[in-house]
Amino acid sequence: MSLIVTNIGELLTNDPDHGIRHDAAVVVDGDRIAWVGPATQAPAADLRLDADGAAVLPGFVDSHAHLVFAGDRAAEFSARMAGQPYTGGGIRTTVAATRSASDDELRGNARRLVSEALRQGTTTIEIKSGYGLSVPDEVRSLRVAAELSTETTFLGAHVVPAEYADRPDDYVDLVQGEMLDAAAPYAKWVDVFCERGAFDGDQARAILTAGAKRGLGLRLHANQLGPGPGVRLAVELGAASADHCTHLDDADVDALAGSDTVATLLPGAEFSTRSPYPDARRLLDAGATVALATDCNPGSSYTSSMPFCIALAVREMGLTPTEAVHAATAGGAAALRRTDLGRISPGARADLIVLDAPSHLHLAYRPGVPLIRHVLQHGAPR
Ligand SMILES: [Zn+2]
Repeated sequence: MSLIVTNIGELLTNDPDHGIRHDAAVVVDGDRIAWVGPATQAPAADLRLDADGAAVLPGFVDSHAHLVFAGDRAAEFSARMAGQPYTGGGIRTTVAATRSASDDELRGNARRLVSEALRQGTTTIEIKSGYGLSVPDEVRSLRVAAELSTETTFLGAHVVPAEYADRPDDYVDLVQGEMLDAAAPYAKWVDVFCERGAFDGDQARAILTAGAKRGLGLRLHANQLGPGPGVRLAVELGAASADHCTHLDDADVDALAGSDTVATLLPGAEFSTRSPYPDARRLLDAGATVALATDCNPGSSYTSSMPFCIALAVREMGLTPTEAVHAATAGGAAALRRTDLGRISPGARADLIVLDAPSHLHLAYRPGVPLIRHVLQHGAPR
C-alpha cells in the first residue's frame, strides 16, 4: 500500500541538501519513504493524507527513556520542590516496587508510556532496564522492553541495590558477569550510571568493556550531578552517546566535539530536579552532535513529551527552535546510530508527524499545547 502526504505547508526533511521544503509532497510505500519532491510532480499513490497546510517533520527519536518500572514518586517530587535536594537515592524506591510487580504490571505500564509518547509524536523510543537489579528482574525488564522497541538497553549498573550496599564490587562483578550474560540476548546496548553515589569511572569502564565484548553498543549516563570521568570515558570507548552532559569542562566539550559520541541532553531531568540546565549552545558551537531526549522515568523526569524538551532546550539551553527540533529527530537517530530515522528522504523509515501548526517553530513557540495532529509510524497511521 502506498500513501501520499499532500498539501504540506512546510516539510522539515533534515536532508542536508534540502532542509525545509515548501510545496512538497511525500510518498510512502510500505514502511519506507519512497519519494519526496514538488507536489506538482508527485507520483500516484493508493491513499492520501491531507496535511491541510500544516508542517510535516520526522517523528521524534527519544534515545533515552526508562519505561520498565512500577509505582511513581510524586511525593518525592513534591518534597524536592519544597527544597529537598535530588541525590539519585530514590531509585531504590522504584527498584522495590518493580521487583514486587508482576510481568503484566510492568508490561502494562511500559506500554501505556510508549503510547503516551507516540501521541506526542515519538515514533522511536529507547527503553532501558535498571529497576530490577537482580538477574531475573533485569532479564524480565528487558524482555518487556524488547516487546516494545528494538532499541533496548541493559542498565544493570543503575545503582548498587541495597543488598550489595556494603560490597559494591561484588555487584559490579555480577553485572559484568552473570547478569550481562542473561541480559545480552534481549539488549542492543549497555549503559552505566557513572556518577558519585552510583558507579565510578573504573567500574563503568569494566562493565562497558564487558558489554562490548558481548556485542552490545555503548551508552553512558555521564556528568549529570557534577563533574566526573564519564564523558571522556564514553568518548574513549567509542560510545554512541554520553547522556546528561550537564557539568562539562573544556576538555569534555573538546572530547565530544572530536568524536562520534553524541551529547544527549535531558532537560526534563533538570526541570524535575530544579537543577542548572546543560549548555547546548556551547556543545553545538564546539562542533559536537547534540540530541534531546526525555529521560522518562518515575524519579527525576516523569515526562514522555519531546515537545516539552524542545521548548526547554530553546528557553533554557541556548538552542534555536530549529536546532532543538533537529536534536529531537536527527540528533536522536545519531545517538542510536540509526541512519534510517530522523529524516524524511527516500529510503528512510516512514515515521513522520503532521503538526497542528504551520511551522515546526511552533513546537517551542507554543509550549504545553498538543500540536501533534497525525502520526505515521512504519508507514501506518497511528
Ligand atoms: Zn537516564
